[in-house]
Amino acid sequence: MPRAQRETLLLAFGGNALIRKGQTGTIPEQFENLRLPLSQAARLAQEYRLIITHGNGPQVGDLLLRQECCGDSLPLPLEILVAQTQGQIGYMIESTLDTELMHLDPLVHRPLVSLLSYVVVRPSDPAFLHPTKPIGPVLGEGEEPVVPYPVRKTAKGWRRVVASPEPVTIVEKQEIRQLIDAGFIVICCGGGGIPVVREGRRFCGVDAVIDKDLASALLAREVGVDLFVVATDVAGAYLDYGGPDERLLAELTASKARELLEAGAFPAGSMGPKVLACVRFVESGGARAIICSIEEIEAAVAGRVGTRIVAGG
Ligand code: ADP
Ligand code: MG
Repeated sequence: MPRAQRETLLLAFGGNALIRKGQTGTIPEQFENLRLPLSQAARLAQEYRLIITHGNGPQVGDLLLRQECCGDSLPLPLEILVAQTQGQIGYMIESTLDTELMHLDPLVHRPLVSLLSYVVVRPSDPAFLHPTKPIGPVLGEGEEPVVPYPVRKTAKGWRRVVASPEPVTIVEKQEIRQLIDAGFIVICCGGGGIPVVREGRRFCGVDAVIDKDLASALLAREVGVDLFVVATDVAGAYLDYGGPDERLLAELTASKARELLEAGAFPAGSMGPKVLACVRFVESGGARAIICSIEEIEAAVAGRVGTRIVAGG
């Protein structure tokens, strides 16, 4: 089928595509981890036009830790750290995917591009008044009263918290559309995008972190994606997750998903935004949304595994 008529697939990778639970996260480990999901992405790229987005939690945490260990007198603002991780992870995904594409067919050259992506947020977003998103290292004993930023006690200990505002629009949406129309595979919106607010005609970076699942769903809507796949380290969305009646949901209607979100079945900061992202995508006319494991992306696209979120009640 000519590429212009092919469906567009947006694949949103969690941080676990690079660092699996329990690993130290060395660079060779991260490259190795990327191979399996990206070999699947390479095969899917023969059938679909492809956009890849990704998380950056552990990588941004690592940069913050380095900054704090060095007693840096000129700490970099979060928007710069997000930009740095877009470059770092974009490079790792792009080069690994390029190799996988080459293995598949050395005669076909598929152009790839990693794009620094800005995502607009509202300065009036209530999230700025109540930062909730933990980032960076766990603080040492007695550190929390003296650090110059808001902190919160999490299950792991005291951590810095930042605002996680709603994404409003992806600044480069037109460029991304043009690139996929021209046959590029596009890697973008890493870590939820570089958060910016509009100041007159210019954009200004802000200290915040945008949820990558919600930014990906917005990108999917703005670019006109057909299939939205959120790949993570579990097989899909479960009911009674971790409990005695744990059960994987094969299919979930948007209204049932909203009901379960309200009831707290999918926690904020982990499964909650994935389910909400899929719900928003199908409610705005998107054709298919799936949550699946990074190991089973092709089987999920084929409809055999994962949690499908469908429009309706
Ligand atoms: P990612 O890095 O892919 O965004 P997250 O850690 O944010 O991954 O979210 C995936 C995690 O959500 C799983 O590892 C799982 O522990 C957790 N989780 C919480 N509630 C559920 C649920 N109801 N169903 C499935 N996973 C859940
Ligand atoms: Mg997450």
